[in-house]
Amino acid sequence: NFILAIESSCDDTSAAVLRNDKVLSNVVATQAIHQQYGGVVPELASRAHQQNIVPVVHQALAKANIDKNQLSAIAFTRGPGLMGSLLVGTSFAKSLALGLDIPLIEVHHMQAHILAHFINDEKQSQPSFPFLAMTLSGGHTQIVQVNNYFDLQILGQTLDDAVGEAFDKSAKLLGLPYPGGPLIDKYAQEGNAQAFIFPKPKVEGLNFSFSGLKTSILYFVQKSVKKNPKFIEENLKDICASIQFTILEILMQKLKLAVNQTGIKEIAIGGGVAANSGIRFRLKEAEKTLGWHTYIPKFEYCTDNAAMIGIVGYLKFLEDDFAEQNITAKARYSL
Ligand code: ATP
Ligand code: FE
Repeated sequence: NFILAIESSCDDTSAAVLRNDKVLSNVVATQAIHQQYGGVVPELASRAHQQNIVPVVHQALAKANIDKNQLSAIAFTRGPGLMGSLLVGTSFAKSLALGLDIPLIEVHHMQAHILAHFINDEKQSQPSFPFLAMTLSGGHTQIVQVNNYFDLQILGQTLDDAVGEAFDKSAKLLGLPYPGGPLIDKYAQEGNAQAFIFPKPKVEGLNFSFSGLKTSILYFVQKSVKKNPKFIEENLKDICASIQFTILEILMQKLKLAVNQTGIKEIAIGGGVAANSGIRFRLKEAEKTLGWHTYIPKFEYCTDNAAMIGIVGYLKFLEDDFAEQNITAKARYSL
């Protein structure tokens, strides 16, 4: 079977073609326009999707070397995400499915971030059920117990900012360009993580909170710059290392608690922040010291991409789980 998958929930327009669980092509058009605004501008994102969607789909088909008449079904991201962005992918997927007279499959974006682990690729291995999925992205921070492909139970999530936002907003306070997460990671590798101490939020159970951390970093930076105007330049690496250390401590603490509560030691990480070198290091460490089995998808399947929509599409295709033509996008869509 050949599945065409479309992802347009935020600021990346992506199309992929899968043959069963293997990715034949995965084309992503990222929108550079948002950089100058220091964050995603929804109105501009919708317009860019509208421009990109047809060329991106053509490219995905061409790279996979198949004709659209060979497609078995079309999968698309129904939500959650920005409404204007979702509408572009949803409308396109519906129209093409109608034109080709093939089934339409709706996909939940966060389920896709989790099931990206099941893309059949020699460079990644698959967790076994049940496992704990920690999704670390620009809009979400969740710990989910995954009993099978379609039985997902949220154990905890953020009460305010997502972990990616914590990285990006901290970076912004330091004058770094958007998105600052990868830059904090880069500088942190050469800094002293114990140089500055930031308070960790006190949140019960498996939920997260990152807005307090952002505020304490803001006050800390303001106070320090008042004393020494060159404080940031002179200490950039140490500040980044200390911020990253605090964020990773929060994540690892919650993961350990989730493992203790469930007894599950299969841990699968996903979302853009899974690219962070520090979290990768911590997980490798936990394999040795705590006996966990940890899984991180290939980087291109961590950030927003249509291949992950395609794998969920394929799994639903096997179940004949198809959507009706009158289906609508959902900006808020719980797992
Ligand atoms: P959502 O899926 O919740 O809608 P999103 O898909 O927009 O959000 P992703 O593309 O999964 O988010 O992730 C983007 C985030 O990952 C950004 O906040 C970015 O700063 C962060 N990020 C990427 N690489 C790194 C890194 N090496 N270290 C820390 N953060 C990183
Ligand atoms: Fe995402």
